[in-house]
Amino acid sequence: MKVKFWGTRGSLPQTISNSDALNLIDALITESERQGIDSLKAFKIALHQGQLANPISYGGNTSCTEVLHGAQSFFVDMGSGLRDAGSFYMPKGVKEFHIFLTHMHWDHLIGLPFFIPIHVPGYTVKIYHIHKNAPEHVKIKFNGVNFPLTWDQLGGKIEFVQMKLYEPKPFGDVSVTPFALDHPGGSFGYRFDGGGKSCAVGVDGEYKRTTVKDLGKDLPFYQNLDLLIFDSQYEIAELASRFDWGHCTPTIGVDLSLRECIKTIAFTHHDPWATNAKILRMHAHATTHAKVQLPAFKDRWIAAKQPNGPKLISAWDGLEIDLDVP
Ligand SMILES: [Zn+2]
Ligand SMILES: [Zn+2]
Repeated sequence: MKVKFWGTRGSLPQTISNSDALNLIDALITESERQGIDSLKAFKIALHQGQLANPISYGGNTSCTEVLHGAQSFFVDMGSGLRDAGSFYMPKGVKEFHIFLTHMHWDHLIGLPFFIPIHVPGYTVKIYHIHKNAPEHVKIKFNGVNFPLTWDQLGGKIEFVQMKLYEPKPFGDVSVTPFALDHPGGSFGYRFDGGGKSCAVGVDGEYKRTTVKDLGKDLPFYQNLDLLIFDSQYEIAELASRFDWGHCTPTIGVDLSLRECIKTIAFTHHDPWATNAKILRMHAHATTHAKVQLPAFKDRWIAAKQPNGPKLISAWDGLEIDLDVP
């Protein structure tokens, strides 16, 4: 099973302005000087090998995550990252797409009008959802006012598929199960199990419920999990002033991972105001937190043959994680 991140920004797409680009280039040159790189050729090699910064930038597009297993592909959400996914797949002859919708906030829908397959006859896009009124809210965009085309003018075929909470849906040897997250208006995470691997996409979520008791029927979302994709919009100090905004912080994901023995946790849905430096600072804080808390959970991590605890990743647009590679 593999995961590809097409959009890791939350709430709003984040462009790199001219001054951001200048500062970025400046920082890369400073880092190359620090490393003693003394030629343009060596600079280019270091740049492309991720030796100066990896990633260069976290981007970018709003929420869109792809889960791949064998020849099967599943998307979660259709934020602006979905546009790039469409451009990537159009030349490859793929004619059917499966998209699981967490909720209807705009940052999770805005890519659909620019997803080329919906405009081309012969292509089918299936949108799986929990919210009963999802079709109505997705179609609002295509009323001829908010976007030039109406729903009936779209060339491709778009089907809605109502899913039931906690009920697995089989796709060959992959099963997809929706669980509830804590988010204004309700948001639903999707867990993918296939080929002995598992991945859960847990955005958007505030994670107000984290104890075994409070999670109740949602606890299996986190159990025996290889990868949790976690809403990490805010720094922990920001959480109190953003209560009920529906987003979380990396250290709470680390606590869940330590307790439930989740092998890898990927932080995503970065705040549109978060600079690279802030994301790196949050990542460093989460790493320290994991190290400090690990001894309390030592035995279960030794039993899981991962004695150093969970692997932490701050996701960026274009990142791929292969769960079959140890
Ligand atoms: Zn969002
Ligand atoms: Zn949301």
